[in-house]
Amino acid sequence: MGVIEYSCNVTKHRMLTPTVFELAFETEQPFHFEAGQFISVVIPGAGPKGRDLRRAYSIASSPEMKPVELCVKLVEEGPGTHYLYRLKPGDTFKGYAPYGDFVYKTPAGRKVVFVATGTGLAPFRAMVLSERFKATAPGPITALLGVRTEDELLYCDTFEKRDGIRWIPAVSRPKGDWKGFRGRVTDFLRSEGSGIDWAGSDFYLCGNGEMITEMKALLAEKGVAKASIHQEKYY
Ligand SMILES: Cc1cc2nc3c(=O)[nH]c(=O)nc-3n(C[C@H](O)[C@H](O)[C@H](O)COP(=O)(O)OP(=O)(O)OC[C@H]3O[C@@H](n4cnc5c(N)ncnc54)[C@H](O)[C@@H]3O)c2cc1C
Repeated sequence: MGVIEYSCNVTKHRMLTPTVFELAFETEQPFHFEAGQFISVVIPGAGPKGRDLRRAYSIASSPEMKPVELCVKLVEEGPGTHYLYRLKPGDTFKGYAPYGDFVYKTPAGRKVVFVATGTGLAPFRAMVLSERFKATAPGPITALLGVRTEDELLYCDTFEKRDGIRWIPAVSRPKGDWKGFRGRVTDFLRSEGSGIDWAGSDFYLCGNGEMITEMKALLAEKGVAKASIHQEKYY
């Protein structure tokens, strides 16, 4: 399926955490994508000399769900995120989709480790909610989400208590009496208790570049084959 220009009608805007919002939209033409892919959103007039900018956002809902959902971290002085943040139900924006090859490729039964930081969880949410993923009979999955503070945890309801998924929220600097794992996702994976089958798993990494670099160094140390590593770097 080729890339199509979509006019996206906003249907919902709500805060998921103090700095991450969900933007839901519908399109007149059917919106085709595979779980894990992204939309390239046009940010009108925000570039040099008033040119348009583009920003990529992973689709956080599955291909079967309507409306389509994005989850966006509001970054300081970021033109893309501030444009999207100001949109209200009834507004429209322009986007091009689908893009990307960060889709689920693991054969049935093989173990999988999803590693995300922040909104990097979005493509994994799309995957686990998708019919195609459910039909693949995935092997046991470990899903890790790294955030700084516990109020930045996202989409816990999608991952916790889901059969076949071990959900590990890792909080590096908790503000309160956090009972879960304290540290970064890489700290968890390095810990004695991580129970990861390094050779028998596929690894999907999504989020900030620092985490991806650290993860790839760790996976190299553990002898994980490059073919078992898939990545989507946000910044
Ligand atoms: C394939 C792909 C998919 C992406 N999907 C998402 C997504 O689903 N949700 C999302 O929030 N972002 C996502 N991003 C990042 C997004 O494209 C923008 O870079 C981001 O929203 C910042 O845009 P901006 O114009 O507001 O700020 P910019 O001026 O472009 O960026 C300002 C700074 O913000 C920081 N930054 C960028 N993205 C993030 C982030 N997500 N969390 C924390 N800090 C960040 C970086 O340090 C960057 O230098 C994705 C990026 C790529 C390449």
